[in-house]
Amino acid sequence: MPIQLALQPDPLEFDSDAALSRIRGEADWIGLRFVREVSHRRTVRNGHPEQSSLSLEQGAMVEALIDGQIAYASTSDLSDSGIIEAARKAAALARASAKFKVFPFSEAQRPRRTGRYVSPRRFELDFLDLAGFTDRLIEASRRLRVSDKIVTAMAQASLVDTQVRYVSSNGSDIDQQFLMVGQHFAAIARDGSNVQQRSLNGPTARCWQAGPEAFDWEHLYVECERVGREALELLEADNCPDETLDLILAPDQMLLQIHESVGHPLELDRILGDERNYAGWSFVKPEDFGSLRYGTELMNVTFNPTLKGEFASYAFDDGGNPASREHLIKDGLLLRGLGGLESQARLGLPGVANFRSAGWNRAPIDRMGNINLEPGTTPLNDMVASIRRGIYMEANRSWSIDDYRNKFQFGCEYARLIEDGRLTRVLKNPNYRGVTVPFWNSLKAVGRPEDFQAFGTPYCGKGEPNQVIRVGHASPPCLFTAVEVFGGGA
Ligand SMILES: [Zn+2]
Repeated sequence: MPIQLALQPDPLEFDSDAALSRIRGEADWIGLRFVREVSHRRTVRNGHPEQSSLSLEQGAMVEALIDGQIAYASTSDLSDSGIIEAARKAAALARASAKFKVFPFSEAQRPRRTGRYVSPRRFELDFLDLAGFTDRLIEASRRLRVSDKIVTAMAQASLVDTQVRYVSSNGSDIDQQFLMVGQHFAAIARDGSNVQQRSLNGPTARCWQAGPEAFDWEHLYVECERVGREALELLEADNCPDETLDLILAPDQMLLQIHESVGHPLELDRILGDERNYAGWSFVKPEDFGSLRYGTELMNVTFNPTLKGEFASYAFDDGGNPASREHLIKDGLLLRGLGGLESQARLGLPGVANFRSAGWNRAPIDRMGNINLEPGTTPLNDMVASIRRGIYMEANRSWSIDDYRNKFQFGCEYARLIEDGRLTRVLKNPNYRGVTVPFWNSLKAVGRPEDFQAFGTPYCGKGEPNQVIRVGHASPPCLFTAVEVFGGGA
């Protein structure tokens, strides 16, 4: 559990090298990952501060490789005896489970690497005037409340500083320092039983790697007023029709579409059958890599940990594997899965550096990082102009997808009808449904680099116990043909 602190926590000096030298003889190979995370979180609802917290979490995870089996033990006791005890626990687990191993791992899955990564930033967290910061959120909440019909005006922000140091007995030495911001501004409007939410998503409000400079308050205030007005507009809007027509998804809904129907099904541990929680298996089979037409030729999806500032950018995964941009899907063809070196070895398939842990006390597993839909060439206006009857949807509101990541049903906050090549009426309660591969094979146009927007979420859940992790998704707007849309609650 995070320790709640009233003041800036004391920076703890933990000597990872010294700790490693004390435990390196406990197994055939030993890895040590130290994580220290400081989080500021502020929530203001209807002008009243609700949460104002500063938390510190820190601890170390020891990995031991014995006779082809890797096991883990973590500790928040960072004394010599605490680290030695964790190493012995990990070694005992590895020794006991080695005779039942599913695959003989070796140092090939923990290559020797050294390097450093620092999130882009102009200012450090210390730069922040915390009292002033809360005042700004109060003002943002006030701007969202453009009418008495706005029953909830929510302004939330987080700033997280994470340091990760990874060292191993075969000479890996990796230092990564992340500075991340999260922003959530939303207005809920109500008129009787009609309740509508509108959230602010865009370059001024997103999960992003940056320092306090990411908060452009003057712009945020203007945007909050717009969001408040759009929530009111939704109260007056007609319901989305039940119809099959052309659908344009804005980047802030593409985020969810990519996450649920591309990211999760391509996780190799799901394909191996390890991961069954949270709609856990996958329709994708090992033989599909290199042959499955996932989408039309316009579909290019990358694992891209190198996009500067995107929420899940990093230089190495938590097994020390250097992270590089790779095409998962190229010109519609499925090429590569989301699996780290362990899953790649087990399946004999190419993967990426996505073996990631959710914290100091969780073992890494195959996760998404930044999964992006690469831009195309069609201006949004041209997409709209090409449609006789269609719908444009923004901002995810709800989602549901089956265990194989096949059939899905997603709801958005806000939509506009498209008639004879023009955006017309606002529509409320817009939803659409589809089946993953046919849906992506109805992709007809992909927006330009100028319209490519990056978002992130800190809430991708997976594993048992739950491991919530940060992921990033970037996309331009996209046009899909002949999609079943419907109104009402999703
Ligand atoms: Zn997820």
